[in-house]
Amino acid sequence: MCKSKSEGGLGFRDIEEFNQALLAKQAWPLLLEPQSLLSRIYRAKYYADMEFLEASHGSRPSYAWRSILFRRELLERGIMKSIGDGKSTRVWLDNWVMDKAPRRPMNKETSMNLRLSVSALITAHGSWDFMKLNELFLKGDVDRIMSFPPNKNYKDEWIWAYSKNGKYNVKSGSWLVAQPIIYQEPLPVETSHQNKLKSKIWEVDTMLKIKMFMWCVLSGAFAVAECLRAHGMQAIQICQICKNGNESIVHVLVECDMAKQVWLKAKIPLLQ
Ligand SMILES: [Zn+2]
Repeated sequence: MCKSKSEGGLGFRDIEEFNQALLAKQAWPLLLEPQSLLSRIYRAKYYADMEFLEASHGSRPSYAWRSILFRRELLERGIMKSIGDGKSTRVWLDNWVMDKAPRRPMNKETSMNLRLSVSALITAHGSWDFMKLNELFLKGDVDRIMSFPPNKNYKDEWIWAYSKNGKYNVKSGSWLVAQPIIYQEPLPVETSHQNKLKSKIWEVDTMLKIKMFMWCVLSGAFAVAECLRAHGMQAIQICQICKNGNESIVHVLVECDMAKQVWLKAKIPLLQ
C-alpha cells in the first residue's frame, strides 16, 4: 500500500497517513454537527468554552481524543468557510478563499482590523460589496471572492475544499495527505502605497544605476541573507559586519552600525 503507484502500491507514504485520511471522516461530524451527541460529549470534556478547531489535548487526553485531534490536523489543511451571511467568518483570520489551498485573503494595506467579519463586505442587498473588496484585497483575490456569491439566508459553514459537494471523503483526504503541505504565504508587504513609491523612483533626478538600486531595495531584490534564504539558498542569517541582527535589507541600509555611521557622516538624519 505504501509503494508508489508505479510500483503497484496506493502511493501512500506510510500507513499512518492512510489511517489519517480514513479516520478524518470521524472527526468531520465534530466540526459540522456541534449539536450531535458525540460533539456534546467531547465538548463537555475537552473544549467546553471554545470551538472544536481550537481544542487542545488537555491534561489527560484519552486515546480516542488524541486520535481525533490527529485526524483534525488533516481536516484543518483542507477546510474553509463557505460564506452565507458572513457573520461568523473573520476576514483576516479564517480560511475562506480557495487558491491552491484554502487560505485567508492577502491584504493590500498593512493595517487591518482583525475583528472585521466577512458580513461587513456584503451589501444590504446581499451581494458582494465590490468597492470594499477592491479596497481591501488584491485583484486576484477579489476575483476569487466574486466567483462565490454570499447568501444572506444561510449561516457560514465549514466545507471540505477538495470535494464537489463540500463534504469530506476518504479519496480526496488521501490525496491531500500525500501532498506536500503548502504553507500559507506570509501576508505580503507589497502594498499599493509601496507601488506608488516605486513609480516615484523614476522621477528622482539622479543616475540610472541609483534609481535601479532604489527599485531593487523596494522590490526586495537584493542579495542579503534574508532574501537569499527566502529563495532557498544557504546564507548565514546574522549580519557579518556587526553580528548584531539578521541581515535583512532594512538592517543593511538602516539598522546596522556600519549603515548608521555612513548616514551620520553624510549628515543625513536617520529615519526613525
Ligand atoms: Zn549589521
